[in-house]
Amino acid sequence: MADDYYQILGVDRGASAEDVKKAYRKLARKYHPDVNPGNKAAEEKFKQVSSAFEVLSDAKKRKLYDEFGPDAEKIGFDEKKAEAYRAYKSAASSGGAGGMPFGAEGFDLGDLFGDLFGGRGGGGGGAGGAGFDVGDLFGRRGARSTGPERGEDLTARVQLSLNDAVTGTERTLSITRPGRCSACSGRGDSGKMGTCPTCNGTGKPRRASIFGGAGVCPTCQGTGRAMEPCPQCGGTGVKEESTRLTVKIPAGVQTGSKVRLAGQGAAGPRGGPPGDLYIETEVTEHPLVRREGDDLHIDLPVTVPEAILGADVRVPTFQGEVTVKVPAGSQSGRRMRLKGRGVPSLKGGAPGDLYLHLQVKVPEDASAEARAAAETLSRAYRDDVRRELTL
Ligand SMILES: [Zn+2]
Ligand SMILES: [Zn+2]
Repeated sequence: MADDYYQILGVDRGASAEDVKKAYRKLARKYHPDVNPGNKAAEEKFKQVSSAFEVLSDAKKRKLYDEFGPDAEKIGFDEKKAEAYRAYKSAASSGGAGGMPFGAEGFDLGDLFGDLFGGRGGGGGGAGGAGFDVGDLFGRRGARSTGPERGEDLTARVQLSLNDAVTGTERTLSITRPGRCSACSGRGDSGKMGTCPTCNGTGKPRRASIFGGAGVCPTCQGTGRAMEPCPQCGGTGVKEESTRLTVKIPAGVQTGSKVRLAGQGAAGPRGGPPGDLYIETEVTEHPLVRREGDDLHIDLPVTVPEAILGADVRVPTFQGEVTVKVPAGSQSGRRMRLKGRGVPSLKGGAPGDLYLHLQVKVPEDASAEARAAAETLSRAYRDDVRRELTL
Protein backbone atom coordinates (compact mmCIF):
# COMPACT_ATOMS: atom_id res chain seq x y z
CA MET A 1 0.00 0.00 0.00
CA ALA A 2 3.07 2.16 0.12
CA ASP A 3 2.82 3.44 -3.42
CA ASP A 4 0.34 5.15 -5.55
CA TYR A 5 -1.42 2.91 -8.06
CA TYR A 6 -0.92 5.38 -10.87
CA GLN A 7 2.77 5.51 -10.13
CA ILE A 8 2.98 1.74 -10.01
CA LEU A 9 1.49 1.49 -13.48
CA GLY A 10 3.47 4.51 -14.65
CA VAL A 11 0.42 6.35 -15.96
CA ASP A 12 -0.83 9.79 -15.08
CA ARG A 13 -4.04 10.38 -13.20
CA GLY A 14 -5.97 11.25 -16.32
CA ALA A 15 -4.93 8.10 -18.18
CA SER A 16 -7.67 6.44 -20.23
CA ALA A 17 -8.86 2.92 -19.50
CA GLU A 18 -7.03 1.81 -22.63
CA ASP A 19 -3.75 3.37 -21.43
CA VAL A 20 -4.16 1.69 -18.06
CA LYS A 21 -4.66 -1.67 -19.73
CA LYS A 22 -1.65 -1.15 -22.02
CA ALA A 23 0.60 -0.14 -19.12
CA TYR A 24 -0.55 -3.09 -17.08
CA ARG A 25 0.09 -5.59 -19.87
CA LYS A 26 3.58 -4.26 -20.42
CA LEU A 27 4.48 -4.42 -16.72
CA ALA A 28 2.77 -7.75 -16.14
CA ARG A 29 4.79 -9.28 -18.92
CA LYS A 30 7.98 -7.78 -17.52
CA TYR A 31 7.47 -8.93 -13.92
CA HIS A 32 5.51 -12.13 -14.45
CA PRO A 33 6.85 -14.93 -12.17
CA ASP A 34 7.09 -17.20 -15.17
CA VAL A 35 9.57 -14.81 -16.74
CA ASN A 36 11.43 -14.17 -13.48
CA PRO A 37 11.66 -17.50 -11.70
CA GLY A 38 12.89 -17.15 -8.12
CA ASN A 39 13.11 -13.32 -8.35
CA LYS A 40 11.43 -12.06 -5.15
CA ALA A 41 11.60 -8.40 -6.13
CA ALA A 42 9.93 -9.08 -9.45
CA GLU A 43 7.27 -11.16 -7.75
CA GLU A 44 6.53 -8.31 -5.35
CA LYS A 45 6.38 -5.89 -8.23
CA PHE A 46 4.02 -8.18 -10.13
CA LYS A 47 1.69 -8.25 -7.15
CA GLN A 48 1.70 -4.47 -6.91
CA VAL A 49 1.00 -4.08 -10.60
CA SER A 50 -1.89 -6.54 -10.37
CA SER A 51 -3.42 -4.76 -7.37
CA ALA A 52 -3.09 -1.44 -9.12
CA PHE A 53 -4.70 -2.77 -12.27
CA GLU A 54 -7.52 -4.40 -10.36
CA VAL A 55 -8.52 -1.00 -9.01
CA LEU A 56 -7.72 1.30 -11.91
CA SER A 57 -9.33 -0.95 -14.50
CA ASP A 58 -12.67 -0.78 -12.69
CA ALA A 59 -14.31 2.59 -13.24
CA LYS A 60 -16.16 2.52 -9.92
CA LYS A 61 -13.17 1.43 -7.91
CA ARG A 62 -10.96 3.92 -9.67
CA LYS A 63 -13.35 6.77 -8.87
CA LEU A 64 -13.30 5.90 -5.18
CA TYR A 65 -9.56 5.48 -5.25
CA ASP A 66 -9.20 8.93 -6.79
CA GLU A 67 -11.27 10.40 -3.99
CA PHE A 68 -10.00 8.47 -0.98
CA GLY A 69 -6.64 7.17 -2.06
CA PRO A 70 -5.49 3.99 -0.31
CA ASP A 71 -8.36 4.26 2.19
CA ALA A 72 -10.76 3.38 -0.61
CA GLU A 73 -9.62 -0.20 -0.54
CA LYS A 74 -10.32 -0.36 3.17
CA ILE A 75 -13.77 1.05 2.68
CA GLY A 76 -14.12 -1.89 0.36
CA PHE A 77 -14.94 0.12 -2.75
CA ASP A 78 -18.47 0.19 -1.49
CA GLU A 79 -20.24 3.32 -2.70
CA LYS A 80 -22.62 3.37 0.27
CA LYS A 81 -19.85 3.03 2.79
CA ALA A 82 -17.87 5.61 0.90
CA GLU A 83 -20.81 7.98 1.27
CA ALA A 84 -20.83 7.45 5.04
CA TYR A 85 -17.07 7.86 5.16
CA ARG A 86 -17.34 11.10 3.19
CA ALA A 87 -19.96 12.42 5.59
CA TYR A 88 -17.84 11.37 8.52
CA LYS A 89 -14.83 13.11 7.09
CA SER A 90 -16.69 16.30 6.46
CA ALA A 91 -18.12 16.18 9.99
CA ALA A 92 -14.61 15.65 11.30
CA SER A 93 -13.14 18.49 9.32
CA SER A 94 -15.87 20.91 10.32
CA GLY A 95 -15.12 20.05 13.90
CA GLY A 96 -18.61 18.84 14.61
CA ALA A 97 -18.53 15.47 16.23
CA GLY A 98 -22.29 15.40 16.25
CA GLY A 99 -24.54 14.35 13.46
CA MET A 100 -22.65 11.19 12.64
CA PRO A 101 -24.50 9.49 9.87
CA PHE A 102 -23.59 5.96 10.85
CA GLY A 103 -26.55 5.08 12.97
CA ALA A 104 -29.02 6.36 10.46
CA GLU A 105 -27.23 4.74 7.57
CA GLY A 106 -27.06 1.47 9.40
CA PHE A 107 -23.30 1.50 9.44
CA ASP A 108 -21.35 0.59 12.43
CA LEU A 109 -18.13 2.43 13.02
CA GLY A 110 -16.36 -0.76 13.99
CA ASP A 111 -17.54 -2.33 10.77
CA LEU A 112 -16.55 0.58 8.64
CA PHE A 113 -13.22 1.29 10.23
CA GLY A 114 -12.40 -2.10 11.61
CA ASP A 115 -9.88 -2.79 8.89
CA LEU A 116 -8.33 0.58 9.10
CA PHE A 117 -7.48 0.31 12.72
CA GLY A 118 -6.74 -3.34 12.95
CA GLY A 119 -7.42 -4.37 16.50
CA ARG A 120 -7.63 -0.84 17.72
CA GLY A 121 -11.07 0.00 16.48
CA GLY A 122 -12.76 -3.11 17.76
CA GLY A 123 -15.85 -2.29 19.60
CA GLY A 124 -18.57 -1.07 17.37
CA GLY A 125 -20.85 1.50 18.85
CA GLY A 126 -20.74 5.10 17.76
CA ALA A 127 -17.72 7.27 17.39
CA GLY A 128 -18.02 8.44 20.95
CA GLY A 129 -18.73 5.03 22.37
CA ALA A 130 -15.70 3.51 20.76
CA GLY A 131 -13.63 6.17 22.43
CA PHE A 132 -12.39 7.75 19.25
CA ASP A 133 -11.52 11.31 19.10
CA VAL A 134 -12.26 12.83 15.75
CA GLY A 135 -8.99 14.71 15.78
CA ASP A 136 -7.20 11.48 16.50
CA LEU A 137 -8.96 9.56 13.77
CA PHE A 138 -8.27 12.04 11.07
CA GLY A 139 -5.54 14.00 12.76
CA ARG A 140 -2.91 13.33 10.18
CA ARG A 141 -5.02 14.45 7.31
CA GLY A 142 -7.16 16.88 9.29
CA ALA A 143 -4.16 18.77 10.65
CA ARG A 144 -3.74 20.45 7.33
CA SER A 145 -7.22 20.64 6.00
CA THR A 146 -7.20 20.99 2.26
CA GLY A 147 -10.88 21.38 1.44
CA PRO A 148 -13.07 24.48 1.48
CA GLU A 149 -14.46 25.49 4.87
CA ARG A 150 -17.17 27.88 5.91
CA GLY A 151 -15.84 31.20 7.15
CA GLU A 152 -16.30 32.32 10.74
CA ASP A 153 -19.19 34.38 11.98
CA LEU A 154 -18.14 37.86 13.06
CA THR A 155 -19.71 40.31 15.48
CA ALA A 156 -19.56 44.10 15.28
CA ARG A 157 -20.98 46.38 17.97
CA VAL A 158 -22.99 49.49 17.28
CA GLN A 159 -24.05 52.10 19.82
CA LEU A 160 -27.45 53.70 19.32
CA SER A 161 -29.52 56.36 21.00
CA LEU A 162 -32.93 55.31 22.30
CA ASN A 163 -34.43 57.48 19.55
CA ASP A 164 -32.66 55.41 16.89
CA ALA A 165 -33.58 52.17 18.60
CA VAL A 166 -37.27 53.12 18.64
CA THR A 167 -37.48 54.47 15.10
CA GLY A 168 -34.88 52.25 13.41
CA THR A 169 -31.90 53.65 11.59
CA GLU A 170 -29.14 53.02 9.10
CA ARG A 171 -25.46 52.93 9.90
CA THR A 172 -22.41 52.80 7.71
CA LEU A 173 -19.70 50.74 9.32
CA SER A 174 -16.06 50.38 8.44
CA ILE A 175 -15.07 46.83 9.15
CA THR A 176 -11.89 44.85 8.71
CA ARG A 177 -12.45 41.16 8.18
CA PRO A 178 -10.87 38.12 6.57
CA GLY A 179 -12.00 38.55 2.98
CA ARG A 180 -11.66 36.54 -0.19
CA CYS A 181 -8.18 36.74 -1.68
CA SER A 182 -8.60 38.51 -5.01
CA ALA A 183 -5.36 37.14 -6.46
CA CYS A 184 -6.61 33.54 -6.44
CA SER A 185 -10.38 34.24 -6.23
CA GLY A 186 -10.30 32.47 -2.86
CA ARG A 187 -9.12 29.12 -4.16
CA GLY A 188 -5.79 29.39 -2.39
CA ASP A 189 -3.62 28.07 -5.21
CA SER A 190 -1.58 30.06 -7.65
CA GLY A 191 -2.80 28.07 -10.64
CA LYS A 192 0.74 26.81 -11.25
CA MET A 193 1.99 23.32 -10.51
CA GLY A 194 5.02 22.97 -8.30
CA THR A 195 6.56 20.90 -5.56
CA CYS A 196 3.87 19.64 -3.19
CA PRO A 197 4.04 21.85 -0.07
CA THR A 198 2.75 19.12 2.25
CA CYS A 199 5.39 16.49 1.55
CA ASN A 200 8.05 18.68 -0.04
CA GLY A 201 7.88 16.52 -3.13
CA THR A 202 8.50 13.19 -1.46
CA GLY A 203 4.95 11.97 -2.06
CA LYS A 204 4.89 10.54 1.46
CA PRO A 205 3.04 11.93 4.45
CA ARG A 206 5.19 13.95 6.79
CA ARG A 207 4.43 11.67 9.69
CA ALA A 208 3.77 7.98 9.76
CA SER A 209 0.13 7.41 9.03
CA ILE A 210 -2.10 5.71 11.55
CA PHE A 211 -3.51 3.93 8.56
CA GLY A 212 -0.44 1.80 8.66
CA GLY A 213 2.76 1.95 6.66
CA ALA A 214 3.99 4.99 4.88
CA GLY A 215 0.86 5.81 2.85
CA VAL A 216 0.79 8.55 0.27
CA CYS A 217 0.74 12.27 0.76
CA PRO A 218 -2.95 13.29 0.82
CA THR A 219 -2.29 16.58 -0.93
CA CYS A 220 -0.54 15.27 -4.02
CA GLN A 221 -1.66 11.62 -3.82
CA GLY A 222 1.98 10.67 -3.84
CA THR A 223 2.92 12.45 -7.03
CA GLY A 224 5.05 14.99 -5.21
CA ARG A 225 3.58 17.76 -7.32
CA ALA A 226 0.65 19.96 -6.45
CA MET A 227 -0.71 23.43 -7.11
CA GLU A 228 1.57 26.05 -5.62
CA PRO A 229 -0.10 28.07 -2.89
CA CYS A 230 -1.19 31.58 -3.81
CA PRO A 231 1.61 33.94 -2.75
CA GLN A 232 -0.89 36.63 -1.76
CA CYS A 233 -2.75 34.57 0.84
CA GLY A 234 -0.34 31.73 1.51
CA GLY A 235 -2.82 29.16 0.27
CA THR A 236 -5.73 29.95 2.55
CA GLY A 237 -7.68 31.86 -0.06
CA VAL A 238 -8.37 34.45 2.63
CA LYS A 239 -6.91 37.93 2.98
CA GLU A 240 -7.70 40.74 5.39
CA GLU A 241 -9.85 43.41 3.84
CA SER A 242 -11.41 46.65 4.97
CA THR A 243 -14.80 47.52 3.70
CA ARG A 244 -17.73 49.80 4.37
CA LEU A 245 -21.15 48.35 4.94
CA THR A 246 -24.45 50.11 5.27
CA VAL A 247 -26.53 48.34 7.85
CA LYS A 248 -30.25 48.76 8.40
CA ILE A 249 -30.99 48.61 12.13
CA PRO A 250 -34.67 47.73 12.54
CA ALA A 251 -36.91 49.60 14.96
CA GLY A 252 -37.20 47.88 18.32
CA VAL A 253 -33.65 46.75 19.04
CA GLN A 254 -32.31 46.83 22.55
CA THR A 255 -28.93 46.32 24.13
CA GLY A 256 -27.77 42.87 23.08
CA SER A 257 -30.01 42.58 20.01
CA LYS A 258 -28.27 41.01 17.05
CA VAL A 259 -28.87 41.90 13.44
CA ARG A 260 -27.63 39.18 11.10
CA LEU A 261 -26.06 40.04 7.79
CA ALA A 262 -25.88 36.76 5.92
CA GLY A 263 -22.62 36.11 4.13
CA GLN A 264 -20.89 39.24 5.43
CA GLY A 265 -18.67 37.42 7.92
CA ALA A 266 -15.21 36.04 7.33
CA ALA A 267 -14.48 34.52 3.93
CA GLY A 268 -14.34 30.72 3.90
CA PRO A 269 -10.86 29.21 3.62
CA ARG A 270 -10.04 27.76 0.20
CA GLY A 271 -13.18 29.00 -1.47
CA GLY A 272 -15.63 27.91 1.23
CA PRO A 273 -18.80 29.93 1.85
CA PRO A 274 -18.47 33.04 4.02
CA GLY A 275 -19.75 33.24 7.59
CA ASP A 276 -22.31 35.76 8.74
CA LEU A 277 -21.82 39.15 10.31
CA TYR A 278 -23.82 39.96 13.43
CA ILE A 279 -24.37 43.56 14.41
CA GLU A 280 -24.86 43.65 18.15
CA THR A 281 -26.61 46.81 19.32
CA GLU A 282 -26.02 48.74 22.49
CA VAL A 283 -28.74 51.26 23.26
CA THR A 284 -27.60 54.15 25.45
CA GLU A 285 -29.79 55.38 28.29
CA HIS A 286 -32.05 58.34 27.67
CA PRO A 287 -31.96 61.03 30.38
CA LEU A 288 -35.76 61.46 30.41
CA VAL A 289 -37.15 58.18 29.15
CA ARG A 290 -37.04 54.86 30.95
CA ARG A 291 -37.46 51.69 28.94
CA GLU A 292 -38.98 48.49 30.27
CA GLY A 293 -39.07 45.94 27.50
CA ASP A 294 -41.09 47.63 24.78
CA ASP A 295 -42.79 50.05 27.17
CA LEU A 296 -41.51 53.56 27.75
CA HIS A 297 -42.00 55.70 30.85
CA ILE A 298 -41.80 59.50 31.04
CA ASP A 299 -42.39 61.85 33.96
CA LEU A 300 -44.92 64.46 32.84
CA PRO A 301 -44.75 67.73 34.79
CA VAL A 302 -48.07 69.56 35.23
CA THR A 303 -48.89 72.72 37.15
CA VAL A 304 -51.03 72.78 40.27
CA PRO A 305 -53.89 74.43 38.34
CA GLU A 306 -53.59 71.84 35.54
CA ALA A 307 -53.75 69.05 38.12
CA ILE A 308 -56.78 70.63 39.83
CA LEU A 309 -58.68 71.85 36.81
CA GLY A 310 -57.58 69.33 34.19
CA ALA A 311 -55.90 70.37 30.93
CA ASP A 312 -54.88 69.39 27.42
CA VAL A 313 -51.06 69.20 27.47
CA ARG A 314 -48.64 68.59 24.63
CA VAL A 315 -46.38 65.60 25.09
CA PRO A 316 -43.44 64.67 22.83
CA THR A 317 -43.19 61.04 21.76
CA PHE A 318 -40.69 59.31 19.43
CA GLN A 319 -43.48 59.21 16.87
CA GLY A 320 -44.18 62.95 17.13
CA GLU A 321 -46.00 65.27 19.49
CA VAL A 322 -49.40 64.32 20.86
CA THR A 323 -51.96 66.17 22.98
CA VAL A 324 -52.94 64.43 26.17
CA LYS A 325 -55.97 65.20 28.29
CA VAL A 326 -54.99 65.43 31.96
CA PRO A 327 -58.18 64.76 33.95
CA ALA A 328 -59.32 67.32 36.56
CA GLY A 329 -58.23 66.36 40.05
CA SER A 330 -55.16 64.39 38.96
CA GLN A 331 -52.77 63.52 41.74
CA SER A 332 -49.03 63.64 41.40
CA GLY A 333 -47.82 60.19 40.28
CA ARG A 334 -50.97 59.46 38.32
CA ARG A 335 -50.12 57.09 35.48
CA MET A 336 -51.56 57.64 32.02
CA ARG A 337 -51.07 55.18 29.21
CA LEU A 338 -50.64 56.07 25.54
CA LYS A 339 -51.32 52.79 23.83
CA GLY A 340 -48.87 51.78 21.10
CA ARG A 341 -46.64 54.80 21.62
CA GLY A 342 -43.80 52.72 23.03
CA VAL A 343 -41.17 50.72 21.18
CA PRO A 344 -42.14 48.76 18.03
CA SER A 345 -41.90 45.02 18.52
CA LEU A 346 -38.78 43.53 16.96
CA LYS A 347 -40.63 40.25 16.63
CA GLY A 348 -43.49 41.80 14.71
CA GLY A 349 -46.03 41.85 17.55
CA ALA A 350 -47.92 44.81 18.96
CA PRO A 351 -45.77 47.81 19.90
CA GLY A 352 -45.24 48.73 23.55
CA ASP A 353 -47.03 51.57 25.33
CA LEU A 354 -45.88 54.95 26.56
CA TYR A 355 -46.65 55.64 30.21
CA LEU A 356 -46.83 59.20 31.50
CA HIS A 357 -46.24 59.68 35.22
CA LEU A 358 -47.81 62.96 36.34
CA GLN A 359 -45.60 65.20 38.43
CA VAL A 360 -47.37 68.19 39.97
CA LYS A 361 -45.03 71.18 40.09
CA VAL A 362 -45.47 74.07 42.50
CA PRO A 363 -44.37 77.55 41.33
CA GLU A 364 -40.64 78.24 41.63
CA ASP A 365 -41.09 81.45 43.61
CA ALA A 366 -44.09 82.06 45.74
CA SER A 367 -45.27 85.64 45.19
CA ALA A 368 -47.73 87.30 47.59
CA GLU A 369 -50.45 86.48 45.11
CA ALA A 370 -49.40 82.79 45.00
CA ARG A 371 -49.23 82.62 48.75
CA ALA A 372 -52.75 84.05 49.00
CA ALA A 373 -53.97 81.52 46.46
CA ALA A 374 -52.29 78.74 48.44
CA GLU A 375 -54.02 79.91 51.63
CA THR A 376 -57.32 79.68 49.80
CA LEU A 377 -56.36 76.31 48.43
CA SER A 378 -55.47 74.89 51.82
CA ARG A 379 -59.11 75.18 52.80
CA ALA A 380 -60.03 72.83 49.96
CA TYR A 381 -58.51 69.82 51.74
CA ARG A 382 -61.36 68.26 53.72
CA ASP A 383 -59.26 65.55 55.36
CA ASP A 384 -55.72 65.34 56.61
CA VAL A 385 -53.71 64.32 53.52
CA ARG A 386 -51.49 62.15 55.74
CA ARG A 387 -54.40 60.46 57.48
CA GLU A 388 -53.58 57.07 55.99
CA LEU A 389 -49.86 57.42 56.53
CA THR A 390 -49.44 55.08 59.46
CA LEU A 391 -46.58 52.66 59.76
ZN1 LIG B 1 -4.82 33.96 -2.73
ZN1 LIG C 1 2.59 15.72 -1.41
